[in-house]
Amino acid sequence: MKINLLYLFLKEYYLARRVNRFKSIEQIKQYQEEKVRLHLSKIVPLSPFYQKRFEQHSFSEWRKLPLMDKSIMMKSFDELNTVGIKKKEAFEVALASEESRDFSPKLEDVTVGLSSGTSGNRGLFLVSQEEQVRWAGNILGKVIPTSLFFGKKQTIAFFLRANSNLYNSVNNPKIAFHFFDLLDEIENHIDRLNRYQPTIVVAPSSKLRILAQAKKEGKLSIQPLKIVSVAEALNAEDKLEIEEVFQQKVHQIYQCTEGFLAYTCPHGTLHVNEDLVIIEKEYLDKQAGKFVPVITDFTRTSQPIIRYRLNDVLTEGETCTCGSHFMTLKQIDGRCDDLFYGKRIKDEGVRILFSDFIRRAIISSSDVSLEYKVKQLTFDHINVELSLPDINERKQVQMTIKGNFEQFFKEMECVLPTISFSTYQAPPRGIKIRRVERCFQIEGGIV
Ligand SMILES: [Zn+2]
Repeated sequence: MKINLLYLFLKEYYLARRVNRFKSIEQIKQYQEEKVRLHLSKIVPLSPFYQKRFEQHSFSEWRKLPLMDKSIMMKSFDELNTVGIKKKEAFEVALASEESRDFSPKLEDVTVGLSSGTSGNRGLFLVSQEEQVRWAGNILGKVIPTSLFFGKKQTIAFFLRANSNLYNSVNNPKIAFHFFDLLDEIENHIDRLNRYQPTIVVAPSSKLRILAQAKKEGKLSIQPLKIVSVAEALNAEDKLEIEEVFQQKVHQIYQCTEGFLAYTCPHGTLHVNEDLVIIEKEYLDKQAGKFVPVITDFTRTSQPIIRYRLNDVLTEGETCTCGSHFMTLKQIDGRCDDLFYGKRIKDEGVRILFSDFIRRAIISSSDVSLEYKVKQLTFDHINVELSLPDINERKQVQMTIKGNFEQFFKEMECVLPTISFSTYQAPPRGIKIRRVERCFQIEGGIV
């Protein structure tokens, strides 16, 4: 690591371990505003896209900028990024590296990655070496249980759909990173985990659940100090199961290609990284604290993210007693396109139905933890996939689920759709699990 990069890493790591340096929300807000303005003064001259957006506004009026999202970002890729990389060449590099599963190629020192998504809808992201090093410093400062300099060596098992230089940037005598390809066989994962004995395991929740199962069966013999869930929303029931088996809290990193957004503190509360991003809330249901986040990241320089609307639904949390004043989240609900729509009885208008209620209708139907998937196929049809080989048990659970849905739709004052059942189909390896999914769009819908 070059000296200036090492300095950057240490600085970021040091600051990230001291998030409690902010003594009040006002202090955080002031810090953020200063950082955003400084950031804009650096990136806007390099980005024709943002120059245009700021034609009518001064930097302090950044909150007046129109929102952007993944499709706008992809459409304006060439004019938006500040490193002069063209979409066509970036796609070529990213696809070639995914196919060969050799993740070293870069374009002019910038790592190019592809976000997950259906083909044609995949996002491209660019991260410079400096950004990587800062990312690593920040994430390690917040996630590693002991100090990197005085504590024991940490061995981290990191499960990812695709590795990238992003993660290889963290390897030194105090810390070892082992990359686990999510597309690999579970038996190989178990072998390697038993061999490396990681102190920290970072994986999507569906993988953590499989590992918990393997540990319960005696195949997996690891005792990590910390378990971190990434990439997928962590459901309450998965969390409980993993915590029971590994006898510890599951921590969460809420990270997407758009940035490292939140992490759990020692008290287990999810805090937004307000030292890196500003989150504006677009409320879906203010009373329930449900909102879509609009993020402004004042650390991303290669591909600046200013007022970017994520395709996620979050629930506000309460003040945490850990001492951090960073905004808290009760949960990450899932994607906007996984919200169900109900038809209101009184006027046939649309009502948003949040996925935690849908999940609860399923989970509460059985004492055992169920493998399931719920799809809303149309306004009038919900299909529930269940993995329950015993016919009698299955009948019983199905009846209870139907009853739960009847009750739920009545409470929501919505028309009860047809509820059908089928056998649970696990997603192909490496594909994110979505337990609750809506399969249709409506005009004027929220996404
Ligand atoms: Zn906290």
